[in-house]
Amino acid sequence: MRKLVLATRNAHKVGELRAILGAAGLEVDLVGADAFPEVPDVAETGVTFAENALLKAHALARATGLPAVADDSGLCVDVLGGAPGIFSARWAGRHGDDRANLELLLAQLSDIADPHRGAHFACAAALALPNGEERVVEGRLRGTLRFEPVGSFGFGYDPILQPDGYSVTCAELTPDQKNAISHRGEAFRALTPILRDLLV
Ligand code: IMP
Repeated sequence: MRKLVLATRNAHKVGELRAILGAAGLEVDLVGADAFPEVPDVAETGVTFAENALLKAHALARATGLPAVADDSGLCVDVLGGAPGIFSARWAGRHGDDRANLELLLAQLSDIADPHRGAHFACAAALALPNGEERVVEGRLRGTLRFEPVGSFGFGYDPILQPDGYSVTCAELTPDQKNAISHRGEAFRALTPILRDLLV
């Protein structure tokens, strides 16, 4: 079976991609970057989700000699001109402090009324081959920002984004329900036929 490495040390993301590829009937042996502890994390120096996903995928493909997939994602708020965007994970200053990021964003938007609280999650998923070939696709989940966090599933800004057509936040959806509509699910599903073409 063809081996594919995913540029994340997050077991949850590996499981999510494995489920999507499995559902599409694609038989690949998916391993996380954890299997290669000697490979250093790459600095996310790009200014778009696609650039950062490609940087991570190329670095991992070069270091392992295997086809590599990477994603980069974030929340883009209309009234902030697309911010936090690529800065989503460190909006409040410290990388990965989900609670502080969400609270800072809510404070910044406290005077903004409902019709102007549109936002979307965006995800770029990139594939890089050891020979330098590359592909990148994107997915989006459009919604409205709540004034207070609600729900306990998910992570990051999930408790404040209510997807269009829903009356609950992303953090009130089960993982399966969220995957079915999410930016990451959409991007990885779009990558599936590309993987099928390039890997087999
Ligand atoms: P990364 O793609 O792992 O670098 O994630 C970037 C940041 O974007 C995360 O730390 C979250 O703050 C935010 N983010 C990305 N996807 C989601 C999501 O599905 N739900 C909530 N927050 C997200």
